[in-house]
Amino acid sequence: MIELNRLKEIDQNAKTYQKALYSPTTASVDPKLVCSKLKSILIEQGVQINFSTKCKRIKNNIIYTNKGQYACKFLINAAGLYADKIAKQFGFAKNRIIIPFRGNYLVYGSKKHSIKTHIYPVPNLLNPFLGVHYTLTVNNKLKLGPTSTPAFWRENYKGLSRFNLQEFLQIIYYESKLFLFNSFNFRRLAISEIKKYNRKYFVRLAKHLSHNCDPTSFDTWSKPGIRAQLLNTKTLKLEMDFIIEGDSNSLHILNAVSPAFTCSFAFAKYLVSEKLKKTID
Ligand SMILES: Cc1cc2nc3c(=O)[nH]c(=O)nc-3n(C[C@H](O)[C@H](O)[C@H](O)COP(=O)(O)OP(=O)(O)OC[C@H]3O[C@@H](n4cnc5c(N)ncnc54)[C@H](O)[C@@H]3O)c2cc1C
Repeated sequence: MIELNRLKEIDQNAKTYQKALYSPTTASVDPKLVCSKLKSILIEQGVQINFSTKCKRIKNNIIYTNKGQYACKFLINAAGLYADKIAKQFGFAKNRIIIPFRGNYLVYGSKKHSIKTHIYPVPNLLNPFLGVHYTLTVNNKLKLGPTSTPAFWRENYKGLSRFNLQEFLQIIYYESKLFLFNSFNFRRLAISEIKKYNRKYFVRLAKHLSHNCDPTSFDTWSKPGIRAQLLNTKTLKLEMDFIIEGDSNSLHILNAVSPAFTCSFAFAKYLVSEKLKKTID
């Protein structure tokens, strides 16, 4: 916890009320670079990676894909937005479904900015998402976001691309139910998120975070991301933490919520030492 004076030393632009929380080890990475390095290390160690190979169905430990069949002794399901669908084929993820939430960012365009650090608002504990914040990328680009807009199908990144009718009907059904029963204040969340489609409203949120950052310079939308958020269909509540299910045949990583990228190496170690060893032994 730091006082205003210390905050000014770190970034005189950062705005707060009386005190602030400072996390000196927070940092940015280039995720593409991390993944590409990981890929080359794994290939060096003899791991075979089959890209563009979609798992369509699994029965009796045979995985049916668009590129043929694979037999497996043990399956680890880390399929993000589709992890629940795969888990269900093994009898797991009961009473759970992924409800996708899209995260859009606005990028501070042409002008030079003077922000020196990431700046976050205090999170709303009702949601598993952080509020709209400033992110500095590795190449010092400034981003504002992400939003938490309810999406209507799993890969609802832009327009009607990757539209899936079955997913649409299922997701609309649950989103309407959440809206009707106003579970975890979903109505308020949905309305406040829809307002963020209006760029003016969205950039006004940036004013709460800093003194001297020109809101009008947030002029470019960047590629959105979609959160694979698990909903408990019985309680109509969002799951707030990682969920791991499995048996001697398979292990399913459900609800790898943010910051799942940051913790991925530590989490993988934990899975291997704590979960996999015990299940396979
Ligand atoms: C807007 C936004 C901002 C975020 N910010 C941060 C952050 O600042 N820090 C952080 O740590 N995390 C952040 N996250 C969260 C992080 O990106 C995710 O938690 C993380 O990517 C989850 O990793 P994963 O491997 O479980 O799933 P994914 O990264 O989604 O990977 C799943 C993989 O499975 C594949 N797949 C899916 N279905 C099939 C199938 N049927 N057959 C074959 N392959 C399949 C997909 O193609 C994909 O490659 C953010 C997420 C979003 C959306």
